[in-house]
Amino acid sequence: MSATLGTLLKKLNPSLSIRVFERLDQVANESSNPWNNAGTGHAALCELNYMPDTKDGSLPNPSKAIAINEQFQLSRQFWSWAVSNGVLDDPTTFISATPHMTFVRGAKDVDYLSRRYEALKNQPLFSGMEFSTDPKQIAKWAPLLIQGRSGDEPIAATRIASGTDVDFGAITRQLFAHLKDQGVDVITSAEVKSVKKQTDGTWNLKAKTSNGTQMVNAKFVFVGAGGWALKLFQRSGIQEAKGYGTFPVGGQWLKTDNQELVALHKAKVYSQASVGAPPMSVPHLDTRVVNGKTSLLFGPYATANPKFLKNGSILDLPLSIRPANVIPYLAVAVGNFGLVKYLVGELLKSKSRKFESLLEFMPTAKPGDWELLNAGQRAQIIKKDAAKGGVLQFGTEIITSADGSISGLLGASPGASTAVYAMLEVLKSAFNSEFAGWEKEIKTIMPSFGSHLNSDASAAAKALADTAKTLKL
Ligand SMILES: Cc1cc2nc3c(=O)[nH]c(=O)nc-3n(C[C@H](O)[C@H](O)[C@H](O)COP(=O)(O)OP(=O)(O)OC[C@H]3O[C@@H](n4cnc5c(N)ncnc54)[C@H](O)[C@@H]3O)c2cc1C
Repeated sequence: MSATLGTLLKKLNPSLSIRVFERLDQVANESSNPWNNAGTGHAALCELNYMPDTKDGSLPNPSKAIAINEQFQLSRQFWSWAVSNGVLDDPTTFISATPHMTFVRGAKDVDYLSRRYEALKNQPLFSGMEFSTDPKQIAKWAPLLIQGRSGDEPIAATRIASGTDVDFGAITRQLFAHLKDQGVDVITSAEVKSVKKQTDGTWNLKAKTSNGTQMVNAKFVFVGAGGWALKLFQRSGIQEAKGYGTFPVGGQWLKTDNQELVALHKAKVYSQASVGAPPMSVPHLDTRVVNGKTSLLFGPYATANPKFLKNGSILDLPLSIRPANVIPYLAVAVGNFGLVKYLVGELLKSKSRKFESLLEFMPTAKPGDWELLNAGQRAQIIKKDAAKGGVLQFGTEIITSADGSISGLLGASPGASTAVYAMLEVLKSAFNSEFAGWEKEIKTIMPSFGSHLNSDASAAAKALADTAKTLKL
């Protein structure tokens, strides 16, 4: 998020002086690290949670899926601009064409998937989506899903070739390297400890670095701290962050580097969530390309863990409780008992019990091929709710102070895929007076900015084709 915002700001106003503090010894070692997230270029091509089923068997509403896809197109356009202008390296270092599939079992979900397909097949940004209930066809798309299956239950799949696998860590490192070349200070092993508003409206930041304490005074602060954003907002004391809490969901993956298996699976395959599972913890079987090497990843398995960052502290959750958010926290704990029970249950599952979920996707999977790894932490939003006291929210939310001097992002989904859209929202809310003057330049970087790309079939086809060409997809 910070790397994207810094790149946009430097492009729109090259005279800005920017300093970046990173508490770890390298950038991109938290959620944006490729092994801490799934690398799905979330465009709602295959994730069912953006388009839940209807109660009456009618076509599911595609509007949320279309909106996510339009946001992802801004990322594709930004990365294309960045490649064409030497900001990002060769696109094969961070993105690869990987078909996105949805695979379901049982008559009820087969019917739902067929209606989801009907609702999406003529939407311009979903052009090329295919649907099948034929095991032979599905086996052509992804053989590992079908091998070893008895064939006595109904199955269905959709597939769309325009999906992507993205190494968000590589993008982050490359964007920061470019920012450094432009004179931006990127200071690692430097943890921001305090954020204090001054009487003149500026902010004083204190960071603990390997060389002692560093102070900086800034007109604008972006809290790009991922799961720790809430902590820094609380230290800033801004009214707009009061009442928020963070519900951390840990994750684990199974990974295989067995190249015989890798060769048989070129797709990201999503399915239905288990009962009680949070929507973004739906396991999926994925092609993953990192540093030129291809592996298969299965997961994430959600787990209970009170840390807000993978390298955070088990005190993160208890120390985030304040008088203003104690009711939302309690309301979420009581109102989401099913989720808490599910997470604790997942935590207690042995590796062999976890393996059973993989067998549902890939009946021929052998435990010896797969290793269990820890994924990143997802910091989901808890916020006040007039009726319920507090609610758990699975999306993201931009928090900006009334005077626009401090801004940041809470929440985890759809995440890195829509970082460009999210950072444009930060610019709009925090740089309100400058934004109108920047719009023309933003449109040269992202031609679909400000429009509904999916409403214009020829513009959508052109955007997909142009970005596919530049990004070598
Ligand atoms: C299991 C899992 C799977 C996911 N899958 C996907 C996916 O498939 N597709 C997708 O688009 N998104 C996915 N996401 C979400 C995505 O990874 C995140 O939304 C995104 O990486 C967040 O980027 P960020 O810059 O906000 O945070 P981060 O990448 O976490 O960066 C925050 C940085 O701030 C630093 N920091 C924190 N506090 C301080 C401080 N006080 N001082 C200095 N530095 C500090 C941290 O060390 C860290 O480097 C997934 C996330 C998880 C956990």
